Amino acid sequence: MHCPTRMFGRRIISLTTFFAIAVGVWSLLPRTAAGNKNSQQKQEVHAVWAHPPQIGANIEGVRKFVEQCKRANIDTIVILSKGAHGELYWKSKQFPQAIAKGFENFDFLENITREAHAQGIKIDAWFCDFIEGRDGAAYREHPEWAQLNPNGGTTATEKLGHTRPYDYVWMCPAQRPGYVDQWLIPMFEEVAKNYPVDSLHHDYVRYPGDVGPDSYCFCDYCLNDIPKYAMLRYQTRPTERYRVKFAQPRIEANWWSDPTMLPGDWDQMDRREKADFLLNGRTVPGGPPDLRYFFYDYRVHQIKTFVRQLADHIRRDKPKMQISAAIFKNPVLSGRFIGQRWNEWNSWIDIYMPMTYRSHFAGSFESYLDHLTETTERQLEWVARERPVYAGIASTYLYREELQPIDEIRDRVNEMKELPPGDLLNRAAKARAIKAAFDLLSKRLKEFAPEVERDTGALITSVTANDGQNATTADLENLARRMSKLRGDLPAGYFPPEKLLQSIEAARKANPDGIVIFSAGNLSVEKLWPALETAFKR
Ligand SMILES: [Zn+2]
Repeated sequence: MHCPTRMFGRRIISLTTFFAIAVGVWSLLPRTAAGNKNSQQKQEVHAVWAHPPQIGANIEGVRKFVEQCKRANIDTIVILSKGAHGELYWKSKQFPQAIAKGFENFDFLENITREAHAQGIKIDAWFCDFIEGRDGAAYREHPEWAQLNPNGGTTATEKLGHTRPYDYVWMCPAQRPGYVDQWLIPMFEEVAKNYPVDSLHHDYVRYPGDVGPDSYCFCDYCLNDIPKYAMLRYQTRPTERYRVKFAQPRIEANWWSDPTMLPGDWDQMDRREKADFLLNGRTVPGGPPDLRYFFYDYRVHQIKTFVRQLADHIRRDKPKMQISAAIFKNPVLSGRFIGQRWNEWNSWIDIYMPMTYRSHFAGSFESYLDHLTETTERQLEWVARERPVYAGIASTYLYREELQPIDEIRDRVNEMKELPPGDLLNRAAKARAIKAAFDLLSKRLKEFAPEVERDTGALITSVTANDGQNATTADLENLARRMSKLRGDLPAGYFPPEKLLQSIEAARKANPDGIVIFSAGNLSVEKLWPALETAFKR
């Protein structure tokens, strides 16, 4: 308080005037900082998502990792604490059966929190909310909590793409008592109570979207609760039906005249029939098949209810604990497809980390850069600039072009293995495709690892020479092995660091509050930490 004379030069001002000015300036400051798009006062936060198995269940690994983060000016480590198979990376007393294999005797969360705090880095404990493993503890002990599709199957009965089995079981967000109040919220509470973490992080805070969209949840609880939520029939006089008098010529215009929507024989219908009605029924007889609107609205309501309840529980004992969320890029679309309308969560979320990954955009790398700026601007608008938004960038997906020839060779080799030896025409076609992909790959490989290029080239020749006619099963397997080894250990420089730097710059054009990178492990595999150190230099 001894600086005012300096602030106002040598002019002597009265104490009252000084306080009036000081209070005036003070009250303007936060608003100016938040409202000014190109504000210089705001320091960009740097964060990274990280997985304990890639760091190691030992103190040396944790220290080495925290040092790496320190060198890259990381402010917050978003550390996986409840994984997608339901496995936990803290020594849970309430749920010891869910502790991750290999982490039973090393409390990872405790160790990384202590080491990070010693370096001035914050810890955000990351929870994969509604996704659980097919063999996870939650589903093993409570199969009745799982989401069900119209056929009565869990998400583990689905396929990803045409053939890939899906190992995850999504749990129902609606049931009470159920997964939310008996399992998930108690887990968050245990961490909040026993670990000095700075924040808690939601992920998978939604319905499944890549397998069976619009197919979940039709468990018994939801089949009963959706009609009740939307009041598709009255609880009083449940079997009485009223004929709507169509006073208005346009059918939908009669919506308010009390149609009782649920069919009279609802209670006799099976799961599939009920689900079909909830998705394809009509609000007004003869109107459009619009009943699924209530299904979508119910899902948005359930996810939002969980987000609110979690915040209420945590803030009761830990009013300063922050809550963050990894979310899809567009809350309007994700509201429709996965029940995640995150622009309505400002009361319960302190920091948004939209996953504005290139994998969620179809075009070229250059078009991604433009869309990343535009999307980040929209995300700030969607939350009305009332909460910080950290632009989420995934390194691996930036390198679609660099990874494409490797994946191409791997896929064609696998197809070639399945061909009968006599199928010369198809063998020749596969061999040509492998050769063409290697021509692309070898250019970059030569530049950064000439010996690897030479060795790989020899394997390629053994498979593609003479239109692939000489390739033995052993040759094909050798090449397949080489490709998978190469993909996990490409030479430094193979992934052009400029792409990561340009993406960060593109996000910065929108002036987000921070940048969060997915993920620490991938940065190591891609040998991109030096690039990140450059990008995050202060
Ligand atoms: Zn359900």
